[in-house]
Amino acid sequence: MTSGPVRVAQKATPAELRERNTRLVLQSVLSGAGEVSRADIARSVGLARAVVSEIVQDLVARHLVAEGTGRPQGRGKPATPLQVDTQHYGLLMADVTPAGVRAGVGGLDGTIGPTAQATFPAGPTAGDVVDVLASLLAGLAARDGREVLAAGVAVPGIVSPEGRVTEALQLGWEGVDLAGPLSAALGHDVVLVNDATAVALSEVSHQGAPGAGVVVLHVDTGVGSAVLLDGRVHLGDRQRAGEVGHIDLGVSDRLCACGRRGCLETVAGLPAVLEGLPLERLDDVASLRPGRAPDPVPAELAALVARVDRAAEGLAALICAQVAILDVADVVVDGPVRRAGPRLLDTIEAALARRLPPSDVRRPRYSALGERAVMHGAGAAAMLHRLGVMWLQGPEGAEES
Ligand SMILES: [Zn+2]
Repeated sequence: MTSGPVRVAQKATPAELRERNTRLVLQSVLSGAGEVSRADIARSVGLARAVVSEIVQDLVARHLVAEGTGRPQGRGKPATPLQVDTQHYGLLMADVTPAGVRAGVGGLDGTIGPTAQATFPAGPTAGDVVDVLASLLAGLAARDGREVLAAGVAVPGIVSPEGRVTEALQLGWEGVDLAGPLSAALGHDVVLVNDATAVALSEVSHQGAPGAGVVVLHVDTGVGSAVLLDGRVHLGDRQRAGEVGHIDLGVSDRLCACGRRGCLETVAGLPAVLEGLPLERLDDVASLRPGRAPDPVPAELAALVARVDRAAEGLAALICAQVAILDVADVVVDGPVRRAGPRLLDTIEAALARRLPPSDVRRPRYSALGERAVMHGAGAAAMLHRLGVMWLQGPEGAEES
């Protein structure tokens, strides 16, 4: 029993050690991009060559790792490069929004295969979502042909480790069991993930500096955030970390749908930005750079530009706090708001320059996979849930070195 915040470290059992070593080896294979041999892995993770060989043999038998063609290395037997087995298992992935779902099948290496989309009836219940998802995902799995390892489903809300949607304001859901019924309908393991968290899991595979932290701002109808530090998503004690849409950052005094005033969503959420205009109008904003006088543009566009700039100010206020507290350099903006293009990023960067010391100012970037980022991240969540590994770039650092 623990009687305080300090937990006594317990010695790992042999089974736990074996599982941890297996994860390390599989992660090394994944990060090695088809170039690593058993000897490379033994060196990088600090395990004996014989232990690595035995684990690799097991992973090959489980269809998780495949052997490539050996490359000649001077004298002696060529080292056999290892790669993740992309032929046997597929991962189902889905990005659920209040309007509909974008879904796909991915390989264990993170590549996306067949995709499909479907819409929900207005104000969908969990039953509606399960029906649409189950048929869409089953169809995709049949098209893809690989055995399904697990399904990852991203939702705009807070999810519990047990697979319930604790709270999703946009869907009007509270305490809804989504993973259970969907898993029963599909016959596969289903893992739920928050949409912003999904983007963070997807983005770690596209970082310029592998292993660096990531802050994601997912801007859709609502505004959500996720933080990935030291290769782990920080979910918080109640899985509510990153619920930033309804905090007052001093950038607004407007009444929010939640009943309070000044919430970030009242300036940065899409409804506040668009004010009834179609999303496509953001394309007109993308080409306008900050500082340019809005006089030559029609009044309606000028007003839209002003609202995009105000959203950027709100997002910058949030980013300032996140960067100052966490010292994370990689800031990713995701969601339909990306259609505002360079204008939004330029304005955020300019606002950061006014608020932060010069050495802390960094330009945010849009998610590498654009509109597929959430879906891809849902697949990453399924991968992490089932195998304990991530689609990371570059070699995995040795824990013991
Ligand atoms: Zn609010």
